[in-house]
Amino acid sequence: MNYLSTRSNTTPRRFCDILLEGLAPDGGLYLPEHYPQVNSTTLDHWRRLYVQHGYAALAFEILSLFVDDIPAADLKALCEKTYTPEVFGTPEIAPLKKLHEGFYLEALSNGPTLAFKDMAMQLLGNLFEYELARRGEQLNILGATSGDTGSAAEYAMRGKQGIRVFMLSPHGRMSAFQQAQMFSLQDANIHNIAIEGVFDDCQDIVKAVSNDLDFKRQYKIGTVNSINWARLLAQVVYYFAGYFQATSSNDEQVDFTVPSGNFGNVCAGHVARQMGLPIDKLVVATNENDVLDEFFRTGVYRVRGSADTHETSSPSMDISKASNFERFVFDMLGRDAARTRHLFAEVLPREGRFDLSSELETYREGPRTRWMSGSSTHADRVNVIRVVDERYGVVIDPHTADAYGVARKCAGHNPMIVLETALPIKFAATIREALGRDPDRPARFDGIEDLPRRVQVLPADVDRVKVLIAQECD
Ligand SMILES: *Cc1c(COP(=O)(O)O)cnc(C)c1O
Repeated sequence: MNYLSTRSNTTPRRFCDILLEGLAPDGGLYLPEHYPQVNSTTLDHWRRLYVQHGYAALAFEILSLFVDDIPAADLKALCEKTYTPEVFGTPEIAPLKKLHEGFYLEALSNGPTLAFKDMAMQLLGNLFEYELARRGEQLNILGATSGDTGSAAEYAMRGKQGIRVFMLSPHGRMSAFQQAQMFSLQDANIHNIAIEGVFDDCQDIVKAVSNDLDFKRQYKIGTVNSINWARLLAQVVYYFAGYFQATSSNDEQVDFTVPSGNFGNVCAGHVARQMGLPIDKLVVATNENDVLDEFFRTGVYRVRGSADTHETSSPSMDISKASNFERFVFDMLGRDAARTRHLFAEVLPREGRFDLSSELETYREGPRTRWMSGSSTHADRVNVIRVVDERYGVVIDPHTADAYGVARKCAGHNPMIVLETALPIKFAATIREALGRDPDRPARFDGIEDLPRRVQVLPADVDRVKVLIAQECD
């Protein structure tokens, strides 16, 4: 399988070439040259395989179609090492919870950091370690986080050979639980750096360091952000696993509703549907930051300035632009790289928006193209959390609540699967507001706030961060 960039037709690359890279050199995102097609014989086989041999076996089958530069036995071992009940809390890894007839939650947040990002990041950690060892190389991952991504990356990379993580976070601004999750890690290869500033200051420092090409090369700086193709690919697997659990035969269709921010999660659903998984509707759920909902309603993609980007009670969806969206636009435009490049590299920076309303209309006449969308307010989410608790005795987090509310409006005759992307304990304040009580805390997190902390506080100063990285590496 070869990979190409959404912005050009340069030399195709293989999976391991792009594994450790972020953007393509031309600024585009990588996609496979074509989507492997899964027919009903294969679906039958995978359904049996998932039931009899579990999630890791299914993951291996799906990944094999996209990865041809890792020997099969090694790829299988990597999947088996990643998707274990010990790491993900249940034998199903992504179990389906039935709320009522034809309406399900797919639990994706029982991994080490209690958010769905573990589903992909845990695999990425093992893939990185494998590939770096094979090349005899090292990698220093530099990132900025306001919560979920940073902790998922640290828990995936802790103790891994050849990898160090330098994670910047805004000093004193993450929730107490999130700080405790990250700062209690004692692994020598994990470096927490609390920056005296806000999240944007952290991100600016990461950009400045990455733009210093000499430093970047000398210290082998890399990232693990959501545009990484391997992360997206890992997420394709749970769409299949959810489908097999919600249906008993492969002629049935299902719908998925996905709480969305950077469009990584639902883009994996798009890939699964393009491969031939019988998904009828993909429903994109946003919060008050409704860039994506606006696009699917109007065909206009309009990025927001920082003044228009709201801080909400579902913070992992607080985005001003959706970094994976270019992948979908590329497919929607019949994989026209020149046009995609023009839109994202020229029109968007100049005008802050583009209008694809007529293209979206034409696209929707084709097969496998049913998209719906909706958004929620804080009051909607609080209300949903209360209703779901009262009716089903299930406490959901604000991101999942956003999706549940939108799914109720968009559900038709197919089974509806709502992706649960975090556990409520991560967002205790909103749960207290909705239910007047604290969410349950998994036993392994008891007393986490009292553990010793490993974190260095630095001013928002690029040079100070560079000095720290250099000291650790020399
Ligand atoms: C990251 C995240 C999202 C958004 O996912 P995207 O792939 O960016 O669309 C939703 N919910 C939670 C809890 C998250 O951590």
